[in-house]
Amino acid sequence: MHQSIEKLRKFFRLEHENGYANTAVIGGLANALNLWEGEARNDKLPEEIVQATSATLRAYSDLDPASRLESLKSLWKQILEKVPEAALQKRPVHTKADHQPPQPQRTPAQVAPLPVPEPEAPPAVPAEAVVQGVSAAEEKPDSVTPEQAQTSAAIPVKPATAPTTRPARVVPGRAEARPGGVTSKRPIALNASLTVLAGVGPRHAAMLTRLGLNTLGDMLYNFPHRYEDYSQLKPIRDVFYGQSLTVIGEVTMVNSHPLRGGKMTITEAVINDGTAGLRLTWFNQPWLTNTLKVGEAISVSGKVEQYLGRLVMNSPDWEPVEVENLHTNRIVPIYPLTANVTQKWLRKLMHQVVAYWAPKLTDHLPETIRQAADLPELGIALLQAHFPDSEAKLQAARQRLAFDEIFFLQTGVLRQRRDWQSVPGRIFEVEQAWLEARLAALPFTLTSTQKKALADIRLDLGSGKPMNRLLQGDVGSGKTVVAAMAAAMVNQSGAQAAIMAPTSILANQHFGTFHNVLADENGLLKPDQIRLLVGDTSDRDKEDIRAGLASGGIKIVIGTHALIEDPVTFADLQYVVVDEQHRFGVEQRASLRSKGTNPHLLVMTATPIPRSLALTLYGDLDLSIMDELPPGRLSIPTHILTPQERERAYALVRSQVKSGHQAFIIYPLVEESEKSELLAATQEHEHLQKEIFPELKLGLLHGRMKPDEKDAVMLAFREKQYDILVSTTVVEVGVDVPNATVMLIEGANHFGLAQLHQLRGRVGRSDAQSYCLLIPDHEDAAENERLKAMAETNDGFVLAERDLHQRGPGEFLGTRQAGYATSLKMASLTDIQLIEKARTQAQALFARDPELKAPENSLLAEALGRFWGGGKGDVS
Ligand code: ADP
Ligand code: MG
Repeated sequence: MHQSIEKLRKFFRLEHENGYANTAVIGGLANALNLWEGEARNDKLPEEIVQATSATLRAYSDLDPASRLESLKSLWKQILEKVPEAALQKRPVHTKADHQPPQPQRTPAQVAPLPVPEPEAPPAVPAEAVVQGVSAAEEKPDSVTPEQAQTSAAIPVKPATAPTTRPARVVPGRAEARPGGVTSKRPIALNASLTVLAGVGPRHAAMLTRLGLNTLGDMLYNFPHRYEDYSQLKPIRDVFYGQSLTVIGEVTMVNSHPLRGGKMTITEAVINDGTAGLRLTWFNQPWLTNTLKVGEAISVSGKVEQYLGRLVMNSPDWEPVEVENLHTNRIVPIYPLTANVTQKWLRKLMHQVVAYWAPKLTDHLPETIRQAADLPELGIALLQAHFPDSEAKLQAARQRLAFDEIFFLQTGVLRQRRDWQSVPGRIFEVEQAWLEARLAALPFTLTSTQKKALADIRLDLGSGKPMNRLLQGDVGSGKTVVAAMAAAMVNQSGAQAAIMAPTSILANQHFGTFHNVLADENGLLKPDQIRLLVGDTSDRDKEDIRAGLASGGIKIVIGTHALIEDPVTFADLQYVVVDEQHRFGVEQRASLRSKGTNPHLLVMTATPIPRSLALTLYGDLDLSIMDELPPGRLSIPTHILTPQERERAYALVRSQVKSGHQAFIIYPLVEESEKSELLAATQEHEHLQKEIFPELKLGLLHGRMKPDEKDAVMLAFREKQYDILVSTTVVEVGVDVPNATVMLIEGANHFGLAQLHQLRGRVGRSDAQSYCLLIPDHEDAAENERLKAMAETNDGFVLAERDLHQRGPGEFLGTRQAGYATSLKMASLTDIQLIEKARTQAQALFARDPELKAPENSLLAEALGRFWGGGKGDVS
């Protein structure tokens, strides 16, 4: 056979034995080239192989050993493609570590030997991949059935055999074809690194890392983002004009030719599936003539159009199809990709991992729960979620995996709740007459939902257990006064309260409210017993506040996260309020709480979420909902204007200012960046003041200002020193200026629904009619779904529900939930049925075995620990 190829084989083998030290040839592999190139041409090797070899060997010395291995492997692959005879030559000699199990007969076309084994041949199962006393020996492929041996080289564990360049064909993802039909249930180390997999060297591992895949567990839970359902394919014969669909066929023709005087090229191809042919065209992608190969099957997706009476698809998406998929995996997974990772390669790897490891997983869900909830086993669910046998099995698998996620969430919050309730809380008795007198002193009557919330809180404070209550009320429903009245209940017996808000603007505002409500002349507290602590409170004041809180002289402190960053201590902190709780992280809330001994906790949010969702995410908290606005509030008409209609918006602003009201004008960014054409608040402020509203007073507020500057501007606006406040979204949460009646939002298409709703909530806070105007930054964006939704309803609850359905929970859930969102891959937080099913099971489990001490629950306890990542379950 070819001498030159034999020589390469020898070099490669030596390199392998020497750990890719570039010592196979004295002076380095490149030194062999002069001679070798001559031999290769004598052997009539294809010129591209000679060139490729030359390039590879010349670059070889600059590479690290891992990359050298990869480069030789890749070269050998090319050689096998162009010189198939190379595969027929005797198998390369292997190092001692490479003992080979019996090789079933293979035809050379199917499997070609690779002369480049991995740098080291690790044991069949790496030590770290086996836990709980299962020795590596027990896992060696001798448990592999003959049927399986065919693919053993492609099985994820680095095999003792020489790996093949072309891994064995993709095996159908059917349960029957599971490796060895393994039934023994041994825990496996989900945290084993991916380099234990065959064909995955350090370079591939780095590529996979970019997909967030670092361990076996990551792989098993790396679900397809969609599937191509080949079982539903239409024959090309039945395709007709105007349809958008996917068809599959064999490429029977490809060519490119220039168009319009050579400026453009058109590539045409025809595919045929045996029933009919379909013409495909692409513009300016001449390379397609090389990538599309006659005789290969591809799947194309696009719209069927007509040209000169023939059906044609223009610029369809296409993908090569593994013929095996068509016959076996009727529903083919499509995985998210990154640079240099192809679908085919990743799918093959995923198949190897899932087919081998999924059946070996021990189900963490006890049999009892699985049966009660009617769910498939974990191994089967994972296998079917990746390589489904049918749509029905896929759905069952997804149900099972989604159930796990919600169940873990529920169990976690229930455990949290139990922990919280296991400690005593100070009892605060509240006299009815006292309460009535305090309520009578308010400038308004509480709404019935405010009264109900306050009654809930009063019960909590008298219960002997620490309150853990979520007060959920739409923007403007009047949560602050409820929090303040509750503070009064605690303060009346001398204990202290801390109120944390996400911005200094808001802290300032609450400071004012608490003063008004609690420190009037016959008040409960003296004015200097209520203090404000924000980032730029002067050092002298800070010191004073710290001393007052430590001695107990100060009863209420209101602040930002400065409250927890500062070394503040309390004499007797018994009541903690976290406003706009979604703006804070778990640790921040916990840290404030820890400044007292089991203090009562009230968290407040305007995020209106459906009850089932609230129960899932806040199952540890009791819930008070305020779904009513103070009397006399008018709904806020909301209009979408195009940029050309901006003058109409200005006219409305002018007329509202004329009648004594004020307006907000919001811009998406602080400064105009080079990359973006978004209007920026600072520049627009100048423009508006000079050109548009020269007769009015305009204030400016943005996130880059120092907190005290912000507070000053906000105060001035509240005191009507400005007619218009030009601002970024720093006014988004909580700001309360009842005299403002216009909310004009520029670049409105850049905001999320929750944000828009929050912004709109800044107006409509008195009985005067308010307006919200949305101006997208280009005309087309007026069709924006979110803007339309805003125009349709004022109901935050309806908007939340829509957002949830359209885009998942992301935006409506704050910091606390962001973590959940990433751990929820399968579950939809809108699936009420599933949520209820999981909740029922979680509650039953808790009733049976609250500590998860029973042996059948031990794996569950572990899985739960992984899900909650070590104590992150504190979700206050
Ligand atoms: P949010 O729930 O958005 O935090 P706030 O607590 O800021 O709402 O209250 C919004 C406005 O409504 C404030 O100006 C507040 O004084 C006023 N308010 C609160 N409760 C009532 C009520 N029962 N009647 C009239 N006005 C009220
Ligand atoms: Mg508020």
